[in-house]
Amino acid sequence: MPRTVALLTTLLALLLPDGAHASMRNVILIIGDGFDDQHVTMGRNYLAGMSGKLKVDDLSFRASVQVETLSTSGAPRYVADSANTATSLATGKVTSMGRIATDIDDRDVMTIGERAITAGFKVGLVTTSSLTDATPASFLSHVSARSCEGPEEVLGSTYYGIPQPACLADARDNGGPGSIIEQLVSSGASVLLGGGQKFLAQTTIDNETVAAMAARYRFQVVSSASALAAANFEQPLIGVFSEETLAVRWRGTDGRIAEATETSWLHNLSDYLGDTKEPDVMDCEPNPEYADTPPLAMMTQTALEHLSTDNDQGFFLMVESASIDKQSHKRDPCGSIGEIEQLEEVLEQALEFADAHPDTLIIVTADHAQAAQILPEPTLYSGFPIPIYSPGLTARINTPEGSVMRINYATNNGFSEEHTGANVPLFANEVGARLLRPFLRQREVHDAMMLFLLGAVTPGLGEITP
Ligand SMILES: [Zn+2]
Repeated sequence: MPRTVALLTTLLALLLPDGAHASMRNVILIIGDGFDDQHVTMGRNYLAGMSGKLKVDDLSFRASVQVETLSTSGAPRYVADSANTATSLATGKVTSMGRIATDIDDRDVMTIGERAITAGFKVGLVTTSSLTDATPASFLSHVSARSCEGPEEVLGSTYYGIPQPACLADARDNGGPGSIIEQLVSSGASVLLGGGQKFLAQTTIDNETVAAMAARYRFQVVSSASALAAANFEQPLIGVFSEETLAVRWRGTDGRIAEATETSWLHNLSDYLGDTKEPDVMDCEPNPEYADTPPLAMMTQTALEHLSTDNDQGFFLMVESASIDKQSHKRDPCGSIGEIEQLEEVLEQALEFADAHPDTLIIVTADHAQAAQILPEPTLYSGFPIPIYSPGLTARINTPEGSVMRINYATNNGFSEEHTGANVPLFANEVGARLLRPFLRQREVHDAMMLFLLGAVTPGLGEITP
């Protein structure tokens, strides 16, 4: 037995109460998509106040996670997407952007979700995105491109008019395992909750809809909060509550997002001349489109009850607050902050569950950093007799503690902001504190979850072998 494995085995024995085998072992992985430290701080400033604390701040362990991404030829790339980062978390393998649990040579890589199911654990995925979006997809499916969400898209699709990659070898028409949604419903998962009605409505082979295929795999299929509340825990459960991404909880005043600073005509003559007009201050307000959307915490509570019913072995549950990222792409800070509030509510439920089930590892982390930055209000140089303003887009938000928080977006001039390349934070409960280190590479988060759940580490770390 290699020395590192012996050490890990000893560590695992220490984690078990009284040296005995625990009866139920659970992992709850909460992913805030794009939940980098700028967003953590935005959320804290708005939801708890500058000197307050979020629930994530009260967890006993905190680490910094280096995100790793490869080019298609295997060279390092310094900014990730949600597909390659979710693949790192789900498989311990670093891959290229857009890939779902496949390596750069297009080989399938086993996921912690699949290994957990094989070992007799229950598995659940809960998200505010479509179930077929990159983060949930990477835990229970394998395709060469994230765009291959349904039986139509697997044959090719467009996004904003731009052709997206097909995954022809994966199509069931060609003898493959199918698109992401087809692989999810045949994965052996116990609970799948999020958006994605449009993919369940599509037709797979033999003129069968994906919804009918799901029913054939014994899934009860629900599409409303009331049906979710009435779901039984004997059958696997799939809930889809919108066509794709779920509506977000908050928005800016009347739907406002970050805006450009206006400059006077004189400013065209010189950077040192003219006047500027900053965007007006805005409030965060309820998003009317959210009204009937089941809260992420409600979906999580249902998943926890379902996964822990008649289950002595334990489960792996991934919960994603997806739109911290999606609203940052849209330059909508209130949208992101409302989704941070949803993540906090999920964490509260996870902690309550762990109180009653001590062998529960809780990890909260982000997949990659995002575009938002918190800037001074007003600019540090406001006393200078020249116009100083950000070339990016600005939102100035009234905070509940009576101040103004200025959020800026300036990664590009296009319709959608870019991800950024900073480390991301990770927070964990006491169980995680014994497994993790203050600095981690993202694939090592997978290895720690595998070690805790299955007592085995899969290749990916290099020095550790099963
Ligand atoms: Zn994104």
